[in-house]
Amino acid sequence: MTLVATVLVVEDEAKLRQLLRDMLEREGLAVVTTGSGAEAIDVASRIAPDLVVLDLGLPDIAGEDVAREIRRRTETPILMLTAKVAEEDRIRGLELGADDYMTKPFSPREFVLRVQAVLRRTRVQVSDDGPMSFGHHEVVIDEDRHEVRVRGETVELTPTEWGLLVALGTTPGRVYSRYELINRVRGYEFEGYERTIDSHVKNLRHKIEREPGDPVIVETVLGVGYRLGLARDA
Ligand code: CA
Repeated sequence: MTLVATVLVVEDEAKLRQLLRDMLEREGLAVVTTGSGAEAIDVASRIAPDLVVLDLGLPDIAGEDVAREIRRRTETPILMLTAKVAEEDRIRGLELGADDYMTKPFSPREFVLRVQAVLRRTRVQVSDDGPMSFGHHEVVIDEDRHEVRVRGETVELTPTEWGLLVALGTTPGRVYSRYELINRVRGYEFEGYERTIDSHVKNLRHKIEREPGDPVIVETVLGVGYRLGLARDA
């Protein structure tokens, strides 16, 4: 099972932030950006990115404090960006747990290679031994047979609905933003804007929920996105 990774980019310079986003998206990665350290800490705990690209010099909270706070809560790898050579010493000395760092200015090519290297090194491999089962077998996703069974019955899903369910099922309970979901199902030929995710979710619920108006499998997290409401069976 190959999944697109999500990268949180924390950079207060708007131009550079956009440039980093463009470069990563060109590599097929899902990107979430912010220019604020406080928001970075909040977003990192909500979306659990696969990598954080973190500028050391932020206007509200020092980058090293942001790194420490993120690391206190998760194992998320961090690629630190520094403006000056002198800042490299701060990174070395503080043992921030940054997995790598780059001194500005850097070439786009170098940046992309570093990101890929960190992701390769730290990526948790999802085992695909047999079907994934959730909620005491209420929902079973069999990727080998490309089949979804709900309460024992095989359900026909469109490629987009299938992609959504597989994405949500990868980490039950984790909230996925609409933006992330678009990126994750892109491999299933999804085209559209964030809001169209909502109509796909609606259709999916009609196929798999007992009460589509009161969903327990694909849950809405207001203002954020969606998550799988069932726990993965042992
Ligand atoms: Ca900065």
